[in-house]
Amino acid sequence: MRFRDRVVLVTGGGSGIGRATARAFAREGAVVVVAGRGPESLAETVKLIEADGGVATQVTADVTDEGAAARMVAEVVERHGRLDVAFNNAGVVSAGKVGDLDRETWDRVLAVNLTGVWLSMKYEIAQMREQGGGVIVNTSSNLGAHRRQPGLGAYVASKAAVSALTRTAALEYIGEGIRINAISPGPSDTPRSMRPGETEADRAERLKTTNPSGRVATLDEIAAAVLYLASPDAAYAVGTDLVVDGGASA
Ligand code: NAP
Repeated sequence: MRFRDRVVLVTGGGSGIGRATARAFAREGAVVVVAGRGPESLAETVKLIEADGGVATQVTADVTDEGAAARMVAEVVERHGRLDVAFNNAGVVSAGKVGDLDRETWDRVLAVNLTGVWLSMKYEIAQMREQGGGVIVNTSSNLGAHRRQPGLGAYVASKAAVSALTRTAALEYIGEGIRINAISPGPSDTPRSMRPGETEADRAERLKTTNPSGRVATLDEIAAAVLYLASPDAAYAVGTDLVVDGGASA
């Protein structure tokens, strides 16, 4: 129960890594607010947490919209009085070689993955400064600062930037008691890690030979790493970009 009564915000909390991590925080006693664009998927996460005996609510927010990012944080504070931990995890992926990407795709990937993390941090940091501290974990990726992959240029550029932004913010705010780190997952068990047209079985077959661990990460394995970074166990981890990718970028 490392997060008993801690107020935790999870963006992209309606599915995948965000949902699994929100559930893991709640299991350890946190009061969780999940955010995203789709109210139905957020409601499903809340239901799952409540069924586990946890406490959670939802807030609909598009993190690319500055007003929405500001309201998302304000809503958490209005409901719970503070914001102890923020997990900025909302993200999108889009395929396309650098020469083939259209402007709209490039702008959307950068807007969600990079600008969305920046806007979320901007308002989270303001609140955390006011309350005298807090913890932020951003979702980056092993594709970016750690390794590159042809056909994912916009995604890789956005995630490399998240890794750099995280480290810069960590240096800027640790003096005020705000501890900021990133998690860089490798292929994790969501549809996101499947290539176009691939089934789960195809992905499993591909990873047997292309990932040193020979498999996809379970969502609980990624959640465990996020909770570690967010917990007092990681009190001296500042500006870390924790790669959890089965060895893919070792
Ligand atoms: P996912 O299930 O698609 O989760 C992404 C979440 O982000 C969704 O819940 C989505 O909900 C939300 N989102 C998208 N755009 C948003 C916006 N503009 N504002 C607010 N929320 C938004 O995929 P996932 O695999 O769990 O990915 C989570 C994070 O992990 C992403 O940042 C991804 O890049 C990263 N990652 C994933 C893997 C992997 O293999 N799965 C590996 C490395 C890194 P709505 O559409 O309802 O808004």
